[in-house]
Amino acid sequence: MNIVLLGPPGCGKGTQARILEERTGMVQLSTGEMLRAAVASGSEIGQQAKVLIESGHLVSDDMVIGVVRERLAQPDIARGAIFDGFPRTVAQAEALDTLLKEQNLTLDAVIEMQVKDEILVDRVSGRFTCANCGEGYHDRSKQPKKSGVCDVCGGTNFNRRADDNAETVKSRLISYHAQTVPLIAYYKAAGKLKPIDGMAGIDEVARQLAKAIGV
Ligand code: AMP
Repeated sequence: MNIVLLGPPGCGKGTQARILEERTGMVQLSTGEMLRAAVASGSEIGQQAKVLIESGHLVSDDMVIGVVRERLAQPDIARGAIFDGFPRTVAQAEALDTLLKEQNLTLDAVIEMQVKDEILVDRVSGRFTCANCGEGYHDRSKQPKKSGVCDVCGGTNFNRRADDNAETVKSRLISYHAQTVPLIAYYKAAGKLKPIDGMAGIDEVARQLAKAIGV
């Protein structure tokens, strides 16, 4: 099965993709993480993407589609893909349809995670992740049980994303409404859209998501 998680920055796509990956063995495919890895490596793509990511703008369709095309050629995709943060434009959605068709794959469902804009800035500006295992935390809603120590792996180093600040989140939300919201109609017309309440707690959202895709 292949699914897309669609929703604004901070709606919980990454958190839910990790939970679903753990539970089903499907593979999380996060274009944001792939682009941040490219930035960290200093590659040409990374250098071009850095300024756009840090100012809250979308990276070009061609660049992101190229990154996804390469990723989809890897054998683990046979376990099923959870697209997290891709597609973000109608051009990317059309490209995804083509890329999947080329590999004889289909897109089974698009989960629209509905969260009100008002709470997204707060959610995003407090978050951090374990540098070792990637477990997500939040200053106000999910601190590690022991301060400074990851609950999952015991790691003591944490990362905060350069684009997770109130100012940049506002640009990311503007990009979301202008460029990504049209995908809701695109996937509704294709009969693939399944809306869920992204404002519930993490476990409840995971339950709704599992139900929506029948796992
Ligand atoms: P994310 O981790 O999904 O929040 O993505 C972080 C940033 O990476 C975004 O704000 C964009 O600058 C860039 N990015 C990630 N995925 C895409 C995409 N599908 N299209 C364009 N830019 C993207």
